[in-house]
Amino acid sequence: MDTSMRSAACGNLEKQTQKPKPKPNWTNGSKMDSTEFRKRGMEMVEYICTYLETLNERRVTPSVEPGYLRHLLPSEAPHEPEDWDQIMSDVEDKIMPGVTHWQHPRFHAYFPAGNSFPSILGDMLGDGIGCIGFSWAASPACTELETIVLDWLGKAIGLPDHFLALKEGSTGGGVIQTSASECVLVTMLAARAQALKRLKAQHPFVEEGHLLCKLMAYCSKEAHSCVEKAAMICFVKLRILEPDENASLRGQTIYEAMEEDELQGLVPFFVSTTLGTTGSCAFDNLPEIGKQLERFPGVWLHVDAAYAGNSFICPELKPLLKGIEYADSFNTNPNKWLLTNFDCSTLWVRDRIRLTSALVVDPLYLKHGYSDAAIDYRHWGVPLSRRFRSLKLWFVLRSYGISGLQHYIRHHIKLAKRFEELVLKDKRFEICNQVKLGLVCFRLKGSDKLNEKLLSIINESGKLHMVPASVNDRYIIRFCAVAQNATAEDIDYAWDIIVDFANELLEKEQHDELSDIINRKKQDTLAQKRSFFVRMVSDPKIYNPAINKAGTPKLSMELPSPVVSRGNAPIIRTQSSVDHNSWISWPLAFLFNSGNNEDKGNNVSLRFRHLDTNVRHSSSRRNSGAGSSPSPENELDIVSAQQEQRSPRRSPNVMRKASSSRDNPN
Ligand code: PLP
Repeated sequence: MDTSMRSAACGNLEKQTQKPKPKPNWTNGSKMDSTEFRKRGMEMVEYICTYLETLNERRVTPSVEPGYLRHLLPSEAPHEPEDWDQIMSDVEDKIMPGVTHWQHPRFHAYFPAGNSFPSILGDMLGDGIGCIGFSWAASPACTELETIVLDWLGKAIGLPDHFLALKEGSTGGGVIQTSASECVLVTMLAARAQALKRLKAQHPFVEEGHLLCKLMAYCSKEAHSCVEKAAMICFVKLRILEPDENASLRGQTIYEAMEEDELQGLVPFFVSTTLGTTGSCAFDNLPEIGKQLERFPGVWLHVDAAYAGNSFICPELKPLLKGIEYADSFNTNPNKWLLTNFDCSTLWVRDRIRLTSALVVDPLYLKHGYSDAAIDYRHWGVPLSRRFRSLKLWFVLRSYGISGLQHYIRHHIKLAKRFEELVLKDKRFEICNQVKLGLVCFRLKGSDKLNEKLLSIINESGKLHMVPASVNDRYIIRFCAVAQNATAEDIDYAWDIIVDFANELLEKEQHDELSDIINRKKQDTLAQKRSFFVRMVSDPKIYNPAINKAGTPKLSMELPSPVVSRGNAPIIRTQSSVDHNSWISWPLAFLFNSGNNEDKGNNVSLRFRHLDTNVRHSSSRRNSGAGSSPSPENELDIVSAQQEQRSPRRSPNVMRKASSSRDNPN
């Protein structure tokens, strides 16, 4: 081979081993123009359709470890434009393997993530228009369509007229928020502002911060954790109450808690109820709660119906909305169960001025000539900038019509009922909730551990995806009819998978139990022999039957710790009897320090229902090293009053007095 040939071959080899340099094939080399967008847009629609049509060929959940993507993608963004085909091929090869397919027919976890073609197109158009509709003037159609569509949906759900913006004489109206969590937060902020205004009028010379610490919000133990998060952000205490055996919060429970708190000098200001709880789709007793709240004028009643609220468009389900006439605000997420893509959480308020007065800031550059005549949605929520989200809801409502949406909801309920029947036919399983909508809670009759194992092996298989919940302190498995186009066959198939895994597990458990018994027997015999030998030489009881007969005195039951952990916030459990609990989420307790407290132990005295409690901030960690951030778990010691009582320093009565004098804003 001559040198020229060799170098050509080497060149070829070099060419082969060198990565082909991707060339962007759009014309100006740095950005996609409209010709290219048309082409790629059509390809993208094709890709999405194929993805959705062939979803059932994929695993429901990915089989990847945390950090998987870091190993597949470069650590820096490309300096030069890349080829679109290359980007899309990375979507399939690198992104998709890490995607959990929420639209998969065998995804039965959480609540549905709304999705439909009209909604996707609505979002696409909104993105294309790309306006930022924070005020009417910033994009009139963006604001006005939102108001109209919210009135449409509010009417379809059956909300009272005072929630509708365009109804003659109404003071209310609707708004789209990003999430149900945001709805709860802004309503709590509004309620807080109202309460502080009232308190300030009564105690004009008391600092707002002082008044703030008197405020108490309420929800059920079954309420979504976003209520607790809202309380943390609002800097208020939240009493988390025990629901009844059907996971429903009752009027009397609320009434008793609020009355007791008022006696302690606290100020009830906000109640968040749930229609369709996350755990088991239970319904708080809204008529009872609303009636009781009439005794506490000024308390804001919010109704969180993030999932279930969508179903109220069906006339036969409207009874679930009973009591709504008492509510000050109501939210539901069309992006859960109304074929609308995230984000679209709809919130209605009885009195829009009460909402916006908590959130208005009005710099000159955002003012416009129609401020008095038009709605400016920037005053209805936290962010200033807002997308044109009403477009997708408008597309959905028009494309399906209310009748189409009713059909969709009923179809999902039918599927859930079918699943419930399958479970009931197998006597090894039990149903754990009242199946009213699309969620079925079930479990194997047996221990929580057994059910944990069942769910874990099913989810590990990637064939089906469900999540657990704790209802009535029992571990249950949630099965939600979720997929837009789910069929009866999908439900039967899912049940077959569950039964297969249950058979396998129960067989294994039986086998393990048998070998456990044999092993335990062996060990017991061995241990008995050993202990008999040891005791023979050391324990007089072994020789003296009279001592044995008297038995060992029973250890007294240990009191449960009053501190339980829920998320990051310390929650103080109060207890009057075994079956009557409530908790106070006091998220910022750990921020208190000894600054204005003479007590050297950094103690903050609290008076909780049925329990005098002293929250102690241990300073050891703080002193032990720089850079350690305070955490509730590490910083709080709870010393029950019983312990305090033993101490000659203070009696519980003294504590109570001390606490109530500190609580008095005057
Ligand atoms: N409220 C309820 C009853 C829910 O079920 C959920 C979520 O499933 C939320 C609130 C929180 O919803 P988001 O994710 O929209 O904040």
